[in-house]
Amino acid sequence: MMIIMKSDATPTQVERVVERIEAMGLSARLFQESEATVIGAIGETRNGSMDTFDGLDGVDTVRRVTHPYKLASRQFHPADSIFSVGGFTVGGEEIAVIAGPCSVESRSQIVETAQAVKEAGASALRGGVFKPRTSPYAFQGLGEEGLEFLAEAREKTGLPIVSEILSQTQLDLMVRYVDVLQIGARNMQNFSLLRAIGETRTPVLLKRGLSATIEELLMAAEYILAGGNRQVILCERGIRTFETTTRNTTDINAIPVLKDLTHLPVILDPSHATGHADYVSSVARAAIGAGADGLIVEVHLHPDAAVSDGKQSLRPEKFSEMIRQIGQIARVLNRRLASAEASAPALAGG
Ligand code: PEP
Ligand code: MN
Repeated sequence: MMIIMKSDATPTQVERVVERIEAMGLSARLFQESEATVIGAIGETRNGSMDTFDGLDGVDTVRRVTHPYKLASRQFHPADSIFSVGGFTVGGEEIAVIAGPCSVESRSQIVETAQAVKEAGASALRGGVFKPRTSPYAFQGLGEEGLEFLAEAREKTGLPIVSEILSQTQLDLMVRYVDVLQIGARNMQNFSLLRAIGETRTPVLLKRGLSATIEELLMAAEYILAGGNRQVILCERGIRTFETTTRNTTDINAIPVLKDLTHLPVILDPSHATGHADYVSSVARAAIGAGADGLIVEVHLHPDAAVSDGKQSLRPEKFSEMIRQIGQIARVLNRRLASAEASAPALAGG
């Protein structure tokens, strides 16, 4: 249930509504919308509980939130969530492009890739140091050493860093290094991990599970939001279907559907969605055309030699061309590319 206060409601009137919500055994969440304070009452509500607020001083309207996800719902929070992540803004007019290798492989690899993607116009750097590999014998990531390399790349380029967390045991370490915690497709419903990340205030990039519905994705986001972490970016990365020509099937519908159902920013990962470098730019263009707030794209200096996902990684020149194309599409839609420029130091050479 949500209680929309009158635009001239006083802090005492807001406080009284909050007290009443808490007396009903529910928890209250306040949102300052442009015109009024909106108070969400979270928990099991009983028949008649909405009437409790009708006629209370300062209360304008009381509405039931019909979706099973509450905090993630646009019913609850009609305006787009816009937040700043490191040096760029996500969820507003700007299109954020996160780029980098699937895995951090060495200091020189990540620093040089960071410089290349920065020059092409990326807003953030990606790179996995804990890798969710299908085989336990495949490269599992560099761990903390990889985080140090990422931090060095950030220092040299000013690009904020995005990296995947696989387990709760890595949380303390990860929040010390990264600007955005990535939750991968395989962990989308790791509820204890979602809860633990909800307790942090580090922005999150939550990827859709391999066979998760849109509602399940939103419920996963709800776990993080319920802990008080409101900076959640949702990511469509393709789903498993009967089609095997591409690695996954891009659910392009998910973009307008999510933008309709939730106020959270929505981005697309065309690399995992297609699995082929040749198709990445086309699907990236489609995503921006469909209203995505950004992209996360795998870029490798030498895709043939990559330790993971080389086949779907763009070379820097192709990435640069993709950025130019999406910049043009963004302009048609009255949007523009985000850039980490504002907070970035000058590009350090070498
Ligand atoms: C990745 O981003 O490298 C990754 C493993 O993605 P996903 O969780 O979408 O498979
Ligand atoms: Mn990958």
